Amino acid sequence: MNANEDQPPVGFADLGIDDRVLRALSDVGYESPSPIQAATIPALMAGRHVVGLAQTGTGKTAAFAVPILSRIELDQQAQKAPQALILAPTRELALQVAEAIGKYAKYLPGLHVLPIYGGSSYGVQLSGLRRGAQVVVGTPGRVIDHLEKKTLDLSRLRFLVLDEADEMLNMGFAEDVEKILAGTPADKQVALFSATMPSQIRRIAQRYLTDAAEITMKAKTVTAANTRQRYLQVANPQKMDALTRILEVEQFEAMIIFVRTKQATEDLAERLRARGFSAAAINGDLVQAQRERTIAQLRSGAVDILVATDVAARGLDVERISHVLNYDIPTDTESYIHRIGRTGRAGRTGEALLFMTHRERHLLSSIERATRQPLTEMALPTVEDVNSTRVAKFADSITASLASPQLGLFRGLVDAYAREHDVPVADVAAALAVLSQDGASFLLTAEPPLAKRKPEGGERSFDRDRSPARVAGQRRAKSDVRLATYRIRVGKRHKVQPGAIVGALANEGGLSRQDFGHIDIKVDHSLVELPADLPRGTLDALSRTRISGQLIELTREEGADRPVRPKKPRRSY
Ligand code: AMP
Repeated sequence: MNANEDQPPVGFADLGIDDRVLRALSDVGYESPSPIQAATIPALMAGRHVVGLAQTGTGKTAAFAVPILSRIELDQQAQKAPQALILAPTRELALQVAEAIGKYAKYLPGLHVLPIYGGSSYGVQLSGLRRGAQVVVGTPGRVIDHLEKKTLDLSRLRFLVLDEADEMLNMGFAEDVEKILAGTPADKQVALFSATMPSQIRRIAQRYLTDAAEITMKAKTVTAANTRQRYLQVANPQKMDALTRILEVEQFEAMIIFVRTKQATEDLAERLRARGFSAAAINGDLVQAQRERTIAQLRSGAVDILVATDVAARGLDVERISHVLNYDIPTDTESYIHRIGRTGRAGRTGEALLFMTHRERHLLSSIERATRQPLTEMALPTVEDVNSTRVAKFADSITASLASPQLGLFRGLVDAYAREHDVPVADVAAALAVLSQDGASFLLTAEPPLAKRKPEGGERSFDRDRSPARVAGQRRAKSDVRLATYRIRVGKRHKVQPGAIVGALANEGGLSRQDFGHIDIKVDHSLVELPADLPRGTLDALSRTRISGQLIELTREEGADRPVRPKKPRRSY
């Protein structure tokens, strides 16, 4: 299903998608369709029903949302009744899907997406429905409630999606789902996605879907005999810290780090360079000459780390690549196989590492099946591991410098200094070592208090001197961190306390307590002072953060920056 290395991959532009949706996909940074998208989008664009065996993480949301958005009628001002209904098992998924659709619909004027789910007020949902939403995303129970109250009119429905159908049945929604299917226009188009195909789902598919395109990803299997595969379960905000620890401790010659989007390649490469690693980005936006230049740098050793998307790394053959690190898990096993095929080349051994969040655990067994090899769990390198590596590298750098032709000159200067100031030569050597650190602390220190805040999701600690503000500060003047005021959409009305704001932002954005300035909680929003130059990855993570169930929609307030000393944070809350 997925193109192999010799064929050019299918592009989104080949799938007949509306131009405005295409532009939005490019904005979110998707370079090429995932296999489920390449198979599902043309079928749905052609008006067919679809049954897809697909799990979370495969890109199935865009697989159904993109064709629906491409085919929805926007001009029918008078029509308030929804044209598309997406049923999801949980409110989290409903919200996630609604958010994703909102992004893909960025350039569709007048398109409204409304999430409706249990536990949120009817008032907001009712006014949304009265105003008119072409796309409704809801949990089956709440959809039935609205149908019974006659506040939701599905008589004009053209598209119905059952997302995570097996989960919906597991949660006892079978009857509600069938009731909704039976009570909607017979000529609607239905797409059913499920990770498994129990007989109950087969029966629903046979009853309500005619001539459906059945889409199953047939995983190609390979043996990656030369490549050792390991994985680390790590929450998204902790990935950067985990990566830097691994880069410090793991012996590697050259590494490719895979991420999902073009922006992520640039962001990550920049953050790695700021931490002193020699990293470059390659993505589909690079012209061929630039791409070749960057690969030549990797080959020659001028660059050791390449941060790449799947498309950009296709066919890459550089013997030096000892490690492949999947920073974002791939959307399908074939991409995984292509990725790890970049190492272990020319008879050498390779190392494949995989970062996986808790929600992505189910993809592990598919990868193990596809590569016919178990992946072993690796431990996050501890602070002690990192520090002993730093000490060993420090010793090595001394040994290397002892061979320098300038040694004689400096020995004379050091001897003269020690005599003149009457200090031991060892102290002078230590002072020179301090100088070589350029103000940075030599040893890593863990930050225990925040590590305990969020129980799930494995290792939560991150080092104090590597927090985003510190790193940004190191790049600038080393001592001053400029704070800016950010607005978040939770306030007294949502019953938030400063502690909840600090906890959520710190956990999701990988911030440390020193990064926070003043917090001012207003009625329906709050103003929070945070470092002015938060990296984009942190901003992205924060923009997806929820407090008291509310998406905080972090935005920067203009013109409110002020410098402060980070060592003494203002604790005015
Ligand atoms: P889903 O399976 O829909 O939950 O998507 C899993 C993740 O893959 C989400 O973070 C999407 O933003 C991302 N994604 C979906 N399609 C693509 C694509 N074609 N290229 C890169 N990332 C994608």
